[in-house]
Formats: sequence, structure tokens, C-alpha cells
Amino acid sequence: MPVKGVVFCLEDGLPIEARFLLEDFRLAVNSAVRAGLQARVTSRNALNKLVYKDFRQEHPRMYAKHLVSAFEVAGSVLKNHRRRVRKGNAGRIPYTTRLFMKAENQAYKLDRVNGVIDLPIMAGCHVMLKLVLSDYHRGYLSDPSLTLGSLTLFPDRVIIAFRKNAPKPYVPESALSLDTNERSLDGVFAKCDDVKTVKAEFSDVAMIQQRHHDRRKGLQKKKAHDRRTSRRLCRREGAREHHRIEYRLHQVANAILSFAEDRKSAVVLEELKGFKPTWNKELNRRLSLWPRRRLHQIIEYKAQWRGIPVVKVDPRNSSRTCPICGRIQDSRMGAEFKCECGWHLDRHINASLNLLQTAISKGMAGGLRFNPGAFQHDVMMILYDPVTGARSEPNGTSCVGAVTS
Ligand SMILES: [Zn+2]
Repeated sequence: MPVKGVVFCLEDGLPIEARFLLEDFRLAVNSAVRAGLQARVTSRNALNKLVYKDFRQEHPRMYAKHLVSAFEVAGSVLKNHRRRVRKGNAGRIPYTTRLFMKAENQAYKLDRVNGVIDLPIMAGCHVMLKLVLSDYHRGYLSDPSLTLGSLTLFPDRVIIAFRKNAPKPYVPESALSLDTNERSLDGVFAKCDDVKTVKAEFSDVAMIQQRHHDRRKGLQKKKAHDRRTSRRLCRREGAREHHRIEYRLHQVANAILSFAEDRKSAVVLEELKGFKPTWNKELNRRLSLWPRRRLHQIIEYKAQWRGIPVVKVDPRNSSRTCPICGRIQDSRMGAEFKCECGWHLDRHINASLNLLQTAISKGMAGGLRFNPGAFQHDVMMILYDPVTGARSEPNGTSCVGAVTS
């Protein structure tokens, strides 16, 4: 069941009672983490048994369901810590400094018409949180097919999880096959004997990564005498970078999926799992897989939410194989793939043709068929361009009508 978190701002800020609740929640999480570490347990029930009684005595009026969800948060903190210990980079004992709380869907009420949350704090004390609503937010509140999940409360905002029964993906009538590269997704849109190049560029993501990397380097140099400040400033840089990139990746994913949905396409992507870091640290950073993996994640979950079929394919040899005669070239070549049979094509586009063929041959793209020979070399459809945002228009002058159809 896909879940989507929607961020709401609070119209009148956080009432003081709710602020106390956040502080109690943090206290409960941290004491449960300490107790869990001592007793070597991580499950919510075990923590409940360990801490509930004592904490209840100290805070007799706190709403019991909030306490239970604090143990759940503590459980996941402990699990993450244990994973890090297992990998040998444990660091310090986990301690939550951030003010927040989580409430399960039975532990709060939401007036979906007026956008007001009724949150119990303790026996006899509820707070009403008025949400700032835009059309985007109203869309979620008024959709009866969405059910409410958990609520996460921060001092300045609320995240509400909406759940939906996953719509059944449509039967694809065409395919959008994309090869994921450092600065763009390149590929083909194929419908029967109509095969065209598509491109969704996110070159600004690499630029942002580079710029923030340089800035962090500069900060570390400038604040070399003060590690605490240096770390704080770098963390802020990191958060900014993260937001900026995340925003752009969402834009790219939305553009691709709208394109696919309009044409009833299946989206074919490569499986990005098997990546081995090389010995070169600088190259590793430059080729950091993170934004690409994240982009795939975003595409997949958005597609699931919208009912668009996504196919993931093993990319082995996809950049070395000739889609016409099936020969596998010995090594990767330059920007252009050339085969002895006369076939030649941009290396990335060629890879996406191979991904598509693999998907079709394994029956993953429904009853689709396509003919790589029908490939139109001179037409390109732009799925996303960072300069103008999402758009779809032809790059060639020859067949405008055919492309926009
Ligand atoms: Zn060939």
C-alpha cells in the first residue's frame, strides 16, 4: 500500500502544551534508547515492558498511545544503531536532539474539511492545530480514497501520511526506456514501429553537488581552528544541498511520469544495484550514485501511486550490445556505439534500446513489440529541461505533427 507524506504548515504556530508534549516525547525516546541499549533489546514490545512503568510514574498524565509510539521510534533508532555497530562504524551512543513526535492514526483526529487536527496531549487536554491549506493540500484532504496514516509533528510543521490502495497499473501500449547517466536520463520512446529519442536532463544536480562540495571544502579550511563551528556550517550546507537536489529530482520524475501516463507507457529502468566503488576517491565522489538511485526511488514510488507500470532490468552488457545483430563489443567505446553490421548510435541511447529489448524479451512489458530498425535518428523529444522545467517538444524540424501526437 503506497504511502505519501504531505507537509502542512501550522497557521498559528505550536501551542505551548504541544511543545511540552514534544519535549516529553523526546525524553521518552531517549530513555527508551538508553534502556534498550542496556538490556540489548530493540523491539517495541520489549521496550514497552522495560520502560513503560517507570516513565508512566514520572509522567502520569501523558497520553498512553503517544508513549507507545515513542517506543516505536526508539526501536528504530536502536535498530539503526545496531546496524552501524555490525558494520563497524558505531560512533557515539544514539541520542535524539530534535524536537518531534509521532502519533499513529488512532491517536489523533483530523477534520478533513476545515483542516484542523485534534491532538490529545494528556487526560482532559487536547490541542487544535489549524493547518495552512493550499489547493494542493485540499486535493489530498478531499480525496475519499486516501486514508490517514501516522502524523509527525515538528515545532513548525506537520507531516501527515496518506495511504492509498495501489491502483492496478495499466496495460502498456508503449514503452519509455531510460538509461540513467550522471547528468541525464537518455532513452527511447517506442510505440510499435515508432521509435524516438527522449532525454530528461538534470545537469544542474551535478552542478549543485560540485558547488556545495567546494563550499564545504572552503568552510573546513576557513574554520580549521574550530571544528564545532565547521561541522555545524557544513551540516547546514549539506541540508541545503539535499533540499535543492531533492526538489529537482522530483521535478524530473514528475515530467517523466506525466509523459508516460499520457501515452500509456511502461517505464523501463536499469537496476542500479551492482556498483563497485573504484580505488579513486575523487572519481567516486564525482560519480556518486546517490542522486541516480534516489531518482529511481522517486520514480518508482510516484509510479506506484499513479498506477504506471515500471520495469527494472539488469543492465549487464547493455552499453556494449548491438540491438540489431546482437553482437557484443569487447569494450566500451566513445560517445558513439558502432557495430560491424553498420549500426551506429549514441552510446546511451543504444543502451536504452537494449534495456527495452531485454524487458520485452522477458515479457516484462506486457505484449509490447518494437523494431529497433524503425529508430528515427533525427527526432528528439525533451522530457525535462532544467532551464524551462517540464515540457515535451520536438528538436527536429522535420515531423512536428508526428512527435507531438
Ligand atoms: Zn550489429
